[in-house]
Amino acid sequence: MSKQIVLYDTTLRDGTQGEQVNLSAEDKLRIAQKLDEFGIHYVEGGWPGSNPKDARFFELTKSTAFKNARLVAFGSTRRAQNSPEMDKNIKALLETEVQTVAVVGKSWDLHASDVLGVSLNENLSMIEDTVAYLRKQERKVIYDAEHFFDGYKQDPDYTLKTLKAAINGGADLIVLCDTNGGSMPDEIYWIMKEVLPHLTVPYGIHAHDDCGLALANSLVAVQSGATIVQGTINGYGERCGNVDLVSVIGILQLKMGYRCVEKERLRQLTELSRFVSEVANIPPLNTHPFVGRSAFTHKGGIHVDAIQKNPMAYEHMDPEIVGNRRRVLVSDLSGKSNIDYKTREMGIKLGGNGYDSRRIVEEIKKLEDQGYQFDAAEGSLELLIKKITGQFEEPFTLESFRVTIEKNRRGPGTSQATIKISVGEEHEITAAEGQGPVNALDNALRKALTKFFPYIEEMGLVDFKVRVIDGSKATAAKVRVQIESRDAREIWSTIGVSENIIEASWQALVDSVQYKLSRELNGK
Ligand SMILES: [Zn+2]
Repeated sequence: MSKQIVLYDTTLRDGTQGEQVNLSAEDKLRIAQKLDEFGIHYVEGGWPGSNPKDARFFELTKSTAFKNARLVAFGSTRRAQNSPEMDKNIKALLETEVQTVAVVGKSWDLHASDVLGVSLNENLSMIEDTVAYLRKQERKVIYDAEHFFDGYKQDPDYTLKTLKAAINGGADLIVLCDTNGGSMPDEIYWIMKEVLPHLTVPYGIHAHDDCGLALANSLVAVQSGATIVQGTINGYGERCGNVDLVSVIGILQLKMGYRCVEKERLRQLTELSRFVSEVANIPPLNTHPFVGRSAFTHKGGIHVDAIQKNPMAYEHMDPEIVGNRRRVLVSDLSGKSNIDYKTREMGIKLGGNGYDSRRIVEEIKKLEDQGYQFDAAEGSLELLIKKITGQFEEPFTLESFRVTIEKNRRGPGTSQATIKISVGEEHEITAAEGQGPVNALDNALRKALTKFFPYIEEMGLVDFKVRVIDGSKATAAKVRVQIESRDAREIWSTIGVSENIIEASWQALVDSVQYKLSRELNGK
């Protein structure tokens, strides 16, 4: 039976100390429920003594049942002049009614004397009193030894005394923190080995990523005996972030033979990571190990050829184990294999014994040379392939459009668009307003098309990105417009390139609409 590692998530506390991370109390509740469902053992909800939002979160959790996770409220040791029962921060911890509390205390003499301004002995009493008081209130107490490794390198004896104080107070678990993220993996390993004989309770690691070593440090800590790993989903957190629990789980369970969660839950790892980035409104990292969009994506022709014969040729594991999927991109680096794989995936039949694939590769190379980028625009790619192989008939024709922008000194500018299209023998002219010229054009096009294709109303724009692709030629530079659209079933991206931003946007808009129409007309 493989050894169980306890997962302690602090996305809702340390994670929200990351620069871009902002979560409302309701957002935090949704994430807590997701973590619970996934099988995280401890979910640290926040610091009720430090801000009203966290206090509100704990109010919300009073009526929420968690199936797997123990909720944790976080706080610090009592202030020097207070007894624990008089300390506001400790009162706030107890008022949450949460049964498990984490208390952070100072292990580094520098912090006790220079930051808190208390004697080294007073610091020890603050730790012991606080833990003992919370234990007396029948709370399970986790003691977080802040700056443990920096302190140990400075004065190992004193640092050990702080841990003893926590153990004497009755701490149930101890977590050793590399708060500044400056320790090296070998230091973590030997310090943990030295500390081990002094610890009579289970202990864990809390690592920050300031040297890009939070993951390595957490793994060696586990190898040297730690059974609890604290971290955040996607590695959000103060400065360079905390250790990323997504990678911790992937590696410990799939590569090192430890048990973190049920095997079946592992399939939800990708979903969990994307859910948290969605709620936090931070775009997911494509290159995120295990769960990123690019984690099992193949672009080079040789790679694509090989994975069709055996995926293990260029993949360290089966992506489905963590709920991710294999993708193949088509770009100017592509060979015939990419096109063959991609067209099979799209359900497009190619003829001519390789003749079609060669023509498609040539056309893509030509267009990418002009600034198109098809690996990021699979909707446009599908249309292009269908057009080259004669499997696409334009469902409508643009006769003309006109876009006007008006701006005066009284307020923000307004935009109007008029458009004339024809479908078969019928013409349609419409006008629409919008927040900007592209928005007006999009509105006018949809209005004109809805009469012929009512399901156009189901689709909407998700994202609109503009990028200058030839910066050296100043204003004559080309722009690449990339549009992401969605309906109830899928999300697709399309692209346009031109020296004129309206023209580039138009191309991307038309592709987006035509993609939707081609799906509907083919009954997909
Ligand atoms: Zn931290």
